Amino acid sequence: MSESHHAAGSDIRFAGGSLTIDLDALKANYAALAKICEPALTAGVVKGDAYGLGIDRVVPALAEAGCTRYFVALPEEGAAVRAAAPDATVYVLNGLFSEESGSLYVENRLIPVLNSPVDVRLWEVISGVSGERLPCAVHVDTGMNRLGLTVAEALSFAEENSLTRAVEPILVMSHLACADQPAHPLNRRQLESYQTVAAAFPGIESSLANSPGVLLGAEYHFSLTRPGIAVYGGALVSGSASPMRPVVTAEARIVQVRHARAGETVGYGASQTLARDTTIAIAAIGYADGYPRSSSAAGIPLRQNGGPGGHGFIQGRRVPILGRVTMDLTMFDVTDLGPDMVAKGDFIELFGPNLPIDEAAEAAGTISYELLTSLGRRYHRRYVGG
Ligand SMILES: *Cc1c(COP(=O)(O)O)cnc(C)c1O
Repeated sequence: MSESHHAAGSDIRFAGGSLTIDLDALKANYAALAKICEPALTAGVVKGDAYGLGIDRVVPALAEAGCTRYFVALPEEGAAVRAAAPDATVYVLNGLFSEESGSLYVENRLIPVLNSPVDVRLWEVISGVSGERLPCAVHVDTGMNRLGLTVAEALSFAEENSLTRAVEPILVMSHLACADQPAHPLNRRQLESYQTVAAAFPGIESSLANSPGVLLGAEYHFSLTRPGIAVYGGALVSGSASPMRPVVTAEARIVQVRHARAGETVGYGASQTLARDTTIAIAAIGYADGYPRSSSAAGIPLRQNGGPGGHGFIQGRRVPILGRVTMDLTMFDVTDLGPDMVAKGDFIELFGPNLPIDEAAEAAGTISYELLTSLGRRYHRRYVGG
């Protein structure tokens, strides 16, 4: 590659945004969850390129922390996990798309999560062709109405397969719809119907809990838990602060500081009128980087929570966004820092240790999961620890 050609985000001198990903914090979060779950094992959920943080870096870190089982959404993500963890057990949550997709599973020793009787038949066919009883996971829908066999379908599959032995289930699982609301009655209803199905698959691993499910108590752990967001530093229960260590720090470069007068407007749509003389820091970050337009301070009628919009953190203070977030730039009100405290070239934190990711997400009317999986390719990425 010639000197003049840089991949976007590859060089901090040219990047508008910077991501620091703390692999030690990731490992500590995994270890803390694994301890809560003992004697159950704790899997790593690395779908969505490890919640936007990179399967190639996250999987080896989790493996060092003792993780041996992984969940991805898609078979190509599974192949990436296989490359990073040669001996791991890798489950593909979205199941099987077609008979032709089978070779990718077989070549990479990926284990499909069978989500319907159609998936079961496909895997039986693929198993038949391979001449082996191929391992699979059985997903039962206990109240989410997303993926999974019905309880009745799962029970009849358990019975049939114990006779035909066409495929080899090694995991039975279900997924909670409301685990982040511990008092929601659906949690216990799902637990009870899952217990019925799990009993029909004796002697294999069994899994129900995602991150917030881990905190619902040991009876939700079975033999394997599947925390995702908590490992990446997100909150376990909606509305309460995360006990996990922050893993990602997102920062943006300030490319200009300007002064505007009371009564002037800021940004597209002239949606925000300044109430006072204002110092504005313009940061090189925007919705093209996955920084949500919905965290704009004004002019976003569709944001549901009606809150004031997002903040940045700089020089020990929280500073609000002004006007609308644009494609490549976002304006922050740094007046309260005092004169000449912010300069071109400084970096402002968008979320991280000083500005919890869940708060940044809530200000945008979204969740930490979406902020992480939307992180754009233009960020300079730096991995520390691990
Ligand atoms: C994403 C996902 C998880 C992890 O959920 P978190 O809320 O991130 O802990 C676990 N199980 C399934 C089936 C999932 O789709």
